[in-house]
Amino acid sequence: MPSNKKLRRMVIECSRRLAHEGLNINSSGNFSIRTVSEEGEGFLITPSGMSYDCLKPKDICFVRLSDGCSFGFREPSSEWRLHSEIYLARPELRAIAHTHSPFAAVLSCRDESIPPFTYMTAVSRTESIPCAPYATFGSEALAEGCVKTLGESGRACLLSHHGAVACGANAKEAEGLAREIENLARMWAEIQKLGGCKLLDSAEMKKVLKKFENYGQRSRNNQ
Ligand code: 13P
Ligand code: ZN
Repeated sequence: MPSNKKLRRMVIECSRRLAHEGLNINSSGNFSIRTVSEEGEGFLITPSGMSYDCLKPKDICFVRLSDGCSFGFREPSSEWRLHSEIYLARPELRAIAHTHSPFAAVLSCRDESIPPFTYMTAVSRTESIPCAPYATFGSEALAEGCVKTLGESGRACLLSHHGAVACGANAKEAEGLAREIENLARMWAEIQKLGGCKLLDSAEMKKVLKKFENYGQRSRNNQ
C-alpha cells in the first residue's frame, strides 16, 4: 500500500483533476482514500470549504473510522460521515469521489435513477444508477440514505437535489467512475430531450454485469 504521504498527494491530484474537468466548482465535492495511520483505521479526506488548487498535503485530514475523530490542521469535509458510513458498510471500497458534476446534479433533482439506456450503466455494478433520497448536506441521514441506496454491490448513485457519489477499490477507479457517471447523466439528459429511448431489459443487464466481472486486462501467466 502506498505511504500516507503519497496518499495525501493522491487525494489532492484526484480531486484537482475532477475540478479542472468541471465535475466540481470551487470547493464543491470531496475525495477520500481509505488507509491506516498511527491513529487507527480511517481515511484521508479533503478539507471543508477549500479550493482544490490551493491544497497542500498537510491540508488533507485523517478521519478515524471507529469514532469519527479527525486529525490534522484543517476541518475535514462536511461530508466525512458520508465517506465514513460507506467505508464501514463496504470493506472492499477504498476510495470515494463525491461530485456536484452538472448533469448528474441536474438529473438528481428529478429523484429518478439513470436507467439502462446503454449497457454502460453497469459500470456502477447495478443495472441502473439509483438516486439516494434528499437529506441535508453533511447529515447522518444523507450518509445512511446513500449507503442504503448503494446496497451490497452498487458503486455509484445520485444524491437527490445535490450531485453524485462514485466509489472504487482504489483512487483511480473512484475518479474514473465519477467521470463515467457524469458522462452517462449527460447522455441520458440528451436522450430525454429527443423523447426517450428503449431500455435494455434486466436479463441483458444481468449478462453485462457478469461480463464486467472479467472485463479488461487480467494478469497472464505466460508474460
Ligand atoms: P466540503 O467543502 O465540506 O467538502 O463540502 C462540499 C460538499 O460537496 C458538501 O456536500
Ligand atoms: Zn456535496
